[in-house]
Amino acid sequence: MPLYRLDATDTRAHRFHVTCTVESPAPRQRVSLPAWIPGSYLVREFARHASGLRARQRDRDLAVHQLDKATWQIDAAADAPLVLDYDVYAFDTSVRAAWLDAQRGFFNGTSVFLRVESAEGEPHRVELRALPDGWRVATALSPEEIDGEGRGRYGARDYDELVDHPVELGRFWRGEFLAAGVPHAFVVAGALPDFDGDRLLADAARICEAQIRFWHGGEPAKPPFERYLFLLNAVDEGHGGLEHRASTALVAARRDLPKRGLAKEPAELPDGYVGLLGLVSHEYFHTWNVKRLKPREFARYDYTRENYTRLLWFFEGFTSYYDDLFLVRTKLIDDARYLKLVARTITAVAATPGRRVQTLADASFDAWVKYYRADENTPNATVSYYAKGALVALAFDLTLRREGAGTLDRVLQRLWAASDGGPIDEADIASALETVGARSYAPELAAWVHGTDELPLQTLLQEVGVEWQATPPTVAQRLGLRVTESALTGVKATHVLRGGAAEAAGVSAGDELLALDSWRLRRLDDAARIAESGQGVALLVSRDQRVLTLDLAWPDDAAAGAGAVNLKRAAQPTPEAKARGEAWLSG
Ligand SMILES: [Zn+2]
Repeated sequence: MPLYRLDATDTRAHRFHVTCTVESPAPRQRVSLPAWIPGSYLVREFARHASGLRARQRDRDLAVHQLDKATWQIDAAADAPLVLDYDVYAFDTSVRAAWLDAQRGFFNGTSVFLRVESAEGEPHRVELRALPDGWRVATALSPEEIDGEGRGRYGARDYDELVDHPVELGRFWRGEFLAAGVPHAFVVAGALPDFDGDRLLADAARICEAQIRFWHGGEPAKPPFERYLFLLNAVDEGHGGLEHRASTALVAARRDLPKRGLAKEPAELPDGYVGLLGLVSHEYFHTWNVKRLKPREFARYDYTRENYTRLLWFFEGFTSYYDDLFLVRTKLIDDARYLKLVARTITAVAATPGRRVQTLADASFDAWVKYYRADENTPNATVSYYAKGALVALAFDLTLRREGAGTLDRVLQRLWAASDGGPIDEADIASALETVGARSYAPELAAWVHGTDELPLQTLLQEVGVEWQATPPTVAQRLGLRVTESALTGVKATHVLRGGAAEAAGVSAGDELLALDSWRLRRLDDAARIAESGQGVALLVSRDQRVLTLDLAWPDDAAAGAGAVNLKRAAQPTPEAKARGEAWLSG
């Protein structure tokens, strides 16, 4: 039974010191650090931040043999405890690794706890006592013997459980609420003094209540966890989260947290706070969808390498569909705001030429080398399984509703019941769609998930009383460009989109766009006032210290790319469309 003692006092060196005691070691005991953290599909090689591994038995040093980049072997006697000591450098502000400075500490077990091979299935224990003065501990790990500040010993049934509970250390704000009678807590680090914790708790409680009812219905609704913890780190810039079985680690911009005196009216909520509530909703939904209902390939994680699945469009995409949907269903936002959020996703996918190149199933499989390793070619070669996956969920939901056979809610509830909240594969999804929808959805799965056809969203939305308005393209959209611009640096191309006018002219990602027909370009939109449709213009760019003149054929209206999509409630929908639309957004 491995026991880890973690010392978090070396804050200036950003270094956790870990002592791991293995009660009865194997004769050739192997230990290793994971290559990845479940939920984030990139090989991160956590061993690169571990150092100084020493092994002792009966107070004698033992030789440590490194077998590969993340694995060590110690020849130990079986009849005495093996004690391993090592340091972990912790200076990653994301939710995926570990952090330690004088303000706070945070870690995921995958960054700090050596996996004692052959003992993974045994209970594991952690002692968190050596902390800077005044620091507290927050984690959803099971406490075994802790004080009022959370310092002490925690336990886990096995290694998987141990590393699925991130830990926050420091002087954080903490608040609690009940959802369906289950204790929930929010821990917030780094908030500004005007942070309104009560508001955050009240709004989060509505989301959690609604999701528990969604998955379990009836009375009394009981979620598959005894308590739940949100760990939120507020920073200057940042937005993201990582899901776990009974908690989530979130990072958000300080300015997005609710401040005292925030409007009560949904229509007046700032976009930033709506984004934070969407994140809360997203990660909480994962407690069911991916942590329990999960790809069959994830039934047992392999921590040493990539774990492939073709189903992230379902687990991430459908979760992305429901995250904002829960905000409108709980009336935290109004219909108009919700439609704006959907329109933003539609616009983003439409502005991605890669949607015609890569299928959603392939995007899922390739997440390890594509989605998580984005570069200037990403929009041309890939499609986001989050964004397009959410639109596929919307397309399924509206198709089911149009046919009057059921809803996507029923499909997910059916999947949960049929799999007993466990691993599933695509056949299970197809079968739940067929059961609820009273016909096979194989053609839609083939076209939307395994093909690159456009989704019939315009028609489907019309049938729920939502009007689709295409706006004229911006200059960037016209030219097939994504740029950054500022008065200081001018206009710089970050992405050159496949098949666009910029690509045809020879613009490369990284080019500075200096001038158009001898006019200095301070902002890209000025280009529309200089160039005329269908004409050639001279575009001066700077690349690698050279200034180049490119012939740019300014696209006429017909050849211009698509602009943004706006969605709004139709002024005079048919009674059926109106009723269907209301049912959709009220759940
Ligand atoms: Zn997610």
